[in-house]
Formats: sequence, C-alpha cells, structure tokens
Amino acid sequence: MAIKYNHGKDEYHNWLVTETNFDPEYLRKIETIFTLGNGYMGVRAATEEHYIGESRGCYIAGLFDEFPGEVTELANIPDWLNVEIILAGERFDLTQGKVLAYQRILNLKDGQLIRDVEWQSPKGKRSRLIFKRFVSLDNIHVAGMQIKIIPLNYSGKVEIQSGLNGQVTNSGVQHFIEGDKRVFSEGNMYITCQTQESNIIMALAVHHRFFLENKELELEKRFKTDRRQLFLTSEYSVEEENEFVVEKFVAIYTGRDSEFLNLQGDQLKKEVVDRALKDVTNAAQLGYDELFNRHRNCWHKLWNQMDIKIDGPDFDQLAIRFAQFHLYQMTPVHDSRLSVAAKGLSGEGYKGHVFWDTEIFILPFFIYTFPQIARNLLFYRYHTLNGARKKACESGYKGAMYAWESAITGEETTPKWGGLDLKTGEQIRIWCGEIEQHITCDVAYAIWHYLQVTNDYDFMFNYGAEIFMETARFWASRVEYNEERDQYEINDVIGPDEYSEHVNNNAYTNYMVKWHLNKAIEIANWLKKDKPEVWREISKKINISDDELKDWQMKAEKIYVSHDEESGLIEQFDGFMEKKEIDITPFKGKVGAIAQHLSWEEIKESQVLKQADVVMLLYLLGNQFTQKEKKVNYEFYEPKTLHDSSLSPSIHAILAADIGDIKQAYKYFERASRIDLGENPKSSDAGLHAASLGGIWQAVVNGFGGVRVIDGELNINPRLPEKWEMIKFPLTWAGKKYEVEVSKRHIKIKSLDPGSNSLKLKINGQQYLLGANSELGINF
Ligand code: BGC
Repeated sequence: MAIKYNHGKDEYHNWLVTETNFDPEYLRKIETIFTLGNGYMGVRAATEEHYIGESRGCYIAGLFDEFPGEVTELANIPDWLNVEIILAGERFDLTQGKVLAYQRILNLKDGQLIRDVEWQSPKGKRSRLIFKRFVSLDNIHVAGMQIKIIPLNYSGKVEIQSGLNGQVTNSGVQHFIEGDKRVFSEGNMYITCQTQESNIIMALAVHHRFFLENKELELEKRFKTDRRQLFLTSEYSVEEENEFVVEKFVAIYTGRDSEFLNLQGDQLKKEVVDRALKDVTNAAQLGYDELFNRHRNCWHKLWNQMDIKIDGPDFDQLAIRFAQFHLYQMTPVHDSRLSVAAKGLSGEGYKGHVFWDTEIFILPFFIYTFPQIARNLLFYRYHTLNGARKKACESGYKGAMYAWESAITGEETTPKWGGLDLKTGEQIRIWCGEIEQHITCDVAYAIWHYLQVTNDYDFMFNYGAEIFMETARFWASRVEYNEERDQYEINDVIGPDEYSEHVNNNAYTNYMVKWHLNKAIEIANWLKKDKPEVWREISKKINISDDELKDWQMKAEKIYVSHDEESGLIEQFDGFMEKKEIDITPFKGKVGAIAQHLSWEEIKESQVLKQADVVMLLYLLGNQFTQKEKKVNYEFYEPKTLHDSSLSPSIHAILAADIGDIKQAYKYFERASRIDLGENPKSSDAGLHAASLGGIWQAVVNGFGGVRVIDGELNINPRLPEKWEMIKFPLTWAGKKYEVEVSKRHIKIKSLDPGSNSLKLKINGQQYLLGANSELGINF
C-alpha cells in the first residue's frame, strides 16, 4: 500500500495523508493529491529532484495563454521547486541505491508537505533528508521550502543546484517568451517571462539561505544560465551527523494581478519585478520557520471556521478534510475576475477551464461556509457576462448564453476535437461547446441558491438580477415551438450525461429552463413591486419590456417536461426508452472502459449514462418531485449509470439518502471520497476532481446532514449512515454562523454569532424557532 490514512496522532489525528514508500507508479497521483496552493498559485507535489514519468506543474489562476490552433489554457510557469542534491559526489536519486526509510506527508491542518527519507547511495553513503514546503496563505505571492541534509555515515561535500527553470511546457507547448535574468550580491535572483499570446508579464524571484547546525553560512554561489534557466550552485563540506540546511523562498507576481490594474508597459514590468524582489527579500529575512508559522496560523483560523467533525471511520473524517483543504486551496479568493477550474490549480486537465462544476458542485461549500467567497465566484459570471452575450449573439440567440468551458473573457473555450474513437480509429468531435447548454440555467440556479441562503440583496440587485434576466432572455429565444403539440421544446442538446449527444428535450435541461424562466418572472415581479428603482435600472439597462416578460411566462408554461403520470418516470430525453438496453456490468467501476469495447456511436445509441442526469435534476429541484418519483427514477437510472464522470457518485449518494436508502448513499459517499484520495494510482494524473470534492462536502452536509433550502427556508432532515455516530458542521445562514450537531437520536443547532436574530427553520418537516443567541436541541 502506497498511501496511509491513519498516520496522524493526537492533534494530527485524521489530518495527515502519508505516502509510505517511494513508488514511481504513484508519482503523478501523489503530485496531484499533495498539490499545495493558495488560490493564487497551485504547485503539484513534484519532488525536488527529477524523475522519469513526473509531471511537474505550477499554475497561476488567470494566467491563460493560447497556443496557435489550440484553445487557451493555464500556462505551466517556470519550475521553482527543482533542487538537485549531490552528496559526496553522488546525485540524490531514490531510484538508485537504497531507500532505507521513507514517508511523505501532506499535513492538512497546517498546509505543509514533508518528505522524510533515509537513503543509501550506490556507494553505501547513508544520509537523512527532510524536505518541507508550503505555499503561503499569509502572502499569496510567496512560497517556501526547507531541506535538511544529515550525512549519517560519512563526511563529505554536499552540493546544491537550485534556481528557476523555464524549460517547462504544457505537454510540449511552451507558453512563454524569455525575458530578463538577474542575480544580486545579497542573494536574490529573478527571471521574467511573458506569455506568447496573452502578453502577460511575470516575474519569479528566489532567494536561498544555507545553515550548518543552525548557524547561517555565507557560501560562495556560482551562477549558471541557459535558455529560460537561471541556477545557482553552492557546496559545503559537511561532517558526519551535522545538519546542513537549505532554505529557498520564491515570490511570484504577474502583470494581471489586481495590484497593477492601472499600470502598463515598462512601468508595469518594473513594478512586477520590484514587488517580487521585495516579497522574496522579506520572506528570506523572516526565514522558513517564521514564514511557515504565519501561514499555519491562517490555516488554523480557516479550520476553526470550516472544520466538519465526523464521528465514524477515520477515513471519512480525513476525506471531508481533504476535500475542504483542496477546495479552499484551489479557489482564487483574492480575485473576483476568476473562478475555479475543473482541476483547480493542480494539473493540466481541462486546461484550467471553468465548467458548471463551480456553480453546482463547488459553490455550495462556500455559500454555507464562506459566503463572501461564494459572492466572488458568482462575480466571475458577472465579469464574463459580455462573453456570454457574445456567444448567444454568435449562435443566433438573444441575451446571454454561458460558455460550456470558460476562461478569462467568458467566450467559449471548449476544444472541438477530443481523443480517438478506439473502435473506428477516428477522432471524436466534442460538441459540448455548442450544445451542452444547461450551464446557463446552472448559473441562474446558483445565484438563486446563494441569495436564499445569504440574503445578499446587494449582489442580487446590482449583478445577479441582470444575469438572471439576460440568461432567461437567452432561453426564451432558444426554445422551439412545436405547433403540432402546442409546446415549446429544446432540441439538439447534450444534458449532464455526456454519453448522449444531439438529443431533444433533455429532462434536466427542460425542467431547469422552465424553473429559470419562472424564477426570472418572479424576480421581475418582486423587484417591480418592492424595489421599483432597481427594476427601472435593470430593465432600462438591458431593455426589458412587460411584453417580453409575458412572452417568457407563456413559454415557461408551455415548455415540455417529461413525466409519466402513472409510473412517475421521467424520460431522460425523447426516445431514451427506445435506445438499446445493454449489459453494462463489464464496464462498471472502470472509468472509460466502455470506450474500449463500443464505438462512440454505439455508446450514444445505448441506454447507458456517463453520470447523474435525471438524478441530478431530482436533487436540484427536489421539492418539485414526490418521494415516489425520486425513488422510481433513481431505481431506473442508477443501474444504467457508469459514473464515468467523477461528478456522479456524490450526487447519487445524496439522492440515495433522499429516498432513504442510506446503505447505498454511504456506498456512493465512499466511492466519491476515494476518487482522488483512494489507492488508484492513475485516477488523478491530470489533476484533482474539483467538482467531486465539492460533491463530497454536499454529500455530508446536504446528503447525510439533510440541509436544503425550500422556499427560502432552512430545512434539515438528517439521516446518518450506520457507521457514523455523529456529525458536526458549521453553517452560515443569512450572514450568521451556526453549528449543527447531528446524531442518530438528536440534533442540536447552536447560534455562534452574538447578536444573531432568531431563525425559523424546519427539522424533519416540523417548524421550529431558534431563539437569538441560543441553542435548539431535539431528540428523535
Ligand atoms: C463531465 C462534465 C464536467 C467536466 C469537467 C466531464 O467529464 O461529464 O459534467 O463538467 O467533466 O469536470
């Protein structure tokens, strides 16, 4: 077993994930799941020394660049992690000699990565090396590393080669034009570079410090430059059992950082370099330990606000913390022009693009925990509204149509071609950019969800309502009238289940669009009545008339939504029931295996789902469906679903909990929580599954915790899995903080904010009032 989950003791119990032996097969997996970040940058956990098969990567949120003929992607920035170590003439390399002891620990509580190795070189020299690193939450432009080297059975020269290596690519694509390089006598060194197409300047500054037995050394530094590279080499003769320490600090700024919005050209470049040098100088002066302490305090403060306690299997406790740790790390909380990528900042997968993953999977964690961050994430959709307007216009529609995949401007960035169809040998056309349109109602849904939980009317009046109206306008222009049936239809789409393309009347899409149009009208009426000045402003800005609202109303009423009166079954799309029924058991649990056996055409013609579709709908619009409808549809679609998308298991966990099948719910929770954290060495190569991490949080809080908003009111219907005795989670409602504790026999809700108002809520369908600053306990 390469990963250990129960290594942490005492205050670190259920806070550590440990790699127990060096196994090159796990290189990329561990690089991904041990990624460190702070929302500004994310750095894969590549080791200091190079190995064949590694996939080094560091990404800065928003630093996109487009290579000719490809779609824009997050550029892999110059590597600052690399440190080559030569011990008495032999290169430190775990594939050579003998690894006598090894562990690499991701400490979720402190936000630190530690590798502790005892290595015997091919010539028999034994050394202990302890590597530590963090990416600062205290100053998001800074990261620090420390390497302790102790020769155990020899005295000899320790040589270090370290610096900045711009000879990195995104799978072969070099995104940067080389800039300046410079070293300074006091120890700083920096390089600049600029993205090829987006012209974003960036500076990386580093500073090294060396110590022997805690005393700082003034070592001679030799510098070496090459194309896009700047390294220093230093050496020192270390006595047996002495501790030689290298500390390396890095500071990174780019020309798109919000600090520099008003600067351009040489002035911008100067400022970017100056700030990087200033920060790296400060960091180096503070030293690793102090810098790390400041960073750790930030994590501890965050955990005080977000930690969820599960009294159950240790793995489950660790898994929810792992999910929250990464969700926070990957979110650009500093910049509302940005959102969360499908792989966060942990890999090249999906090119750093933003999908519905953010609004539907990730956002709830922030809405209920850090509403200000949720607001920032929704702001991204406001910043990109013009891109969505452009997309609608270019596609022949009105209003705003969000891109299936988006980056900086909100214009469509989905690539048109994907992998090979293994059966036909042809390249597969990706249609999502054109016809996976449900993202436009997902954004509206998220805005409404956010408003209900937070009461942030300011966001709604100034930004949310405009998005809502423009996107509703898109749908009104998108729906097609079927004269014969006197109904509106939405034809030629892809629903959430991407194993069916070019379908008509995808149930998820149609139900959500109906909801969207109805909600837009409700919001318009509400504003007209209660906030006429706000409505005047919006309707003038985007030119909405009462006639247009009437048109939406008429269309909303007549949008066709599938529903079989007798059975309660919802057909996923027109003709789904006529598709071929196939035995999917051979492909279950093996992501993508179906494509090895069936052609893309055959998959599309079969009753097989990649991921939750109708099941997703039953969750999001849960209060529109009866328990019976949920059960019937879950039981119909679940056996046909392969969960070939990581977005699927967590939603199945929630729906299974909703229909009272807690055993299955837990089985799906276990599956979701192992997608990244589990033992599969290959599941996370291209990066973390951000949506699934958000889904894990939802499975705990919305699934087992049973938290829902129904008609603006907080509802809690908890149902714990057999193996859990208790869960305790924080919940922010209308700007006030609460703590919810649920066991199998009781629920307790405590208001944590002094001065909170009383809260009306329903628990298991019964109305209660939680008094201001008090506690409500109910036994079942
Ligand atoms: C899923 C989508 C998801 C995307 C990014 C795809 O495989 O089918 O639902 O948005 O991955 O995570």
